[in-house]
Amino acid sequence: MLKMGLIGVGHLGKIHLKCIRLAKAHYDLIGFYDTDAELARQVADEFHLKAYDSLAELIAACEVVDVVTPTPTHYAVVKQALHGGCHVFVEKPLTETLEEAKELIELSRKSGKLVQVGHVERFNPALLALDGQEIKPYFIEAHRLAMFNPRGVDVSVVLDLMIHDLDIILKLADDEVAEVRASGVAVVSDQPDIVNARIEFKGGTVANLTASRISLKNMRKVRLFQPDAYISLDLLEKESQIVRLFDADDTLPDEGMQYPLDTPKGPRIIHVDQPDSGPVNAIQMELESLADSIKRKKPAAVSIEDGYRALALAHRISDAVKANGQRMPNPKV
Ligand code: NAD
Repeated sequence: MLKMGLIGVGHLGKIHLKCIRLAKAHYDLIGFYDTDAELARQVADEFHLKAYDSLAELIAACEVVDVVTPTPTHYAVVKQALHGGCHVFVEKPLTETLEEAKELIELSRKSGKLVQVGHVERFNPALLALDGQEIKPYFIEAHRLAMFNPRGVDVSVVLDLMIHDLDIILKLADDEVAEVRASGVAVVSDQPDIVNARIEFKGGTVANLTASRISLKNMRKVRLFQPDAYISLDLLEKESQIVRLFDADDTLPDEGMQYPLDTPKGPRIIHVDQPDSGPVNAIQMELESLADSIKRKKPAAVSIEDGYRALALAHRISDAVKANGQRMPNPKV
């Protein structure tokens, strides 16, 4: 059982608190630290959990810490935790700047402590259901649209929302980025609130992503087009669909539905499968996966290097938005 401390008990921190308690086979949650003393008192009362008076005291008492503080604070908090000899789970994005992220990678290597980054979509059942499938997309389309929420506007929509899809796409394409084009508009904040990016990978795969935090509805979809299949992931509904075209005399998989299709090349069969990986508590699962990596001395499921790659691509997109002449807020809005 690993002694765990929680840092930051705001909106997401309270959810983490409950998930760490659910992961009781792996973690003994000994307490938390939050700079907001009034909030700390409330959370200590409500959850019957010790509020530490300082970050240093909490770190000294723990083997692992879970950092759920605002992004601009991640660097300083994670650095202190690594210096204090703790393994770290840190919410996404890893840090605000690439220089900070590089320094933490170096520190993690020197200290021999693991850092896992909270790219929680890796544990979304829609994505987990693709395990074992051959994924070789030629073209990827991602839409992440969210209704406005003042939380998170301390960073651009690229670092706040698009970064989830960047991590997924980097994982699925498994290739180096060749070219990035992007444009964005700042509507209600001083930073881009809607961004569209086109990413071309060295092997030719193209990804087209849109992220917005000022939409009228929520949507999180990733669609993959490859020569033998069309794969649709609904990350909000936690569902996936795999559509394949077969010849009429092919042997079809047992699972799934079939529809006949007359094509100019003769009769074919459309096969639709909806793989189901079952219900999952993604936050509990990502936290448990860190405990497993610590115990088995293996790399984190979402490593600090993965966090760096997603952050580096996010910065490349933000730079492309600026170079493209980012549109400024409408003064009437
Ligand atoms: P929040 O503002 O609701 O909570 C942050 C808490 O951290 C506050 O209680 C604040 O008092 C405390 N805090 C600030 N600085 C601190 C410090 N130095 N030490 C200790 N406590 C400190 O923010 P939130 O919405 O919970 O987001 C927190 C983090 O989680 C952000 O990095 C955000 O990007 C990330 N996040 C991730 C997802 C996801 O889908 N994985 C979703 C939402 C937020």
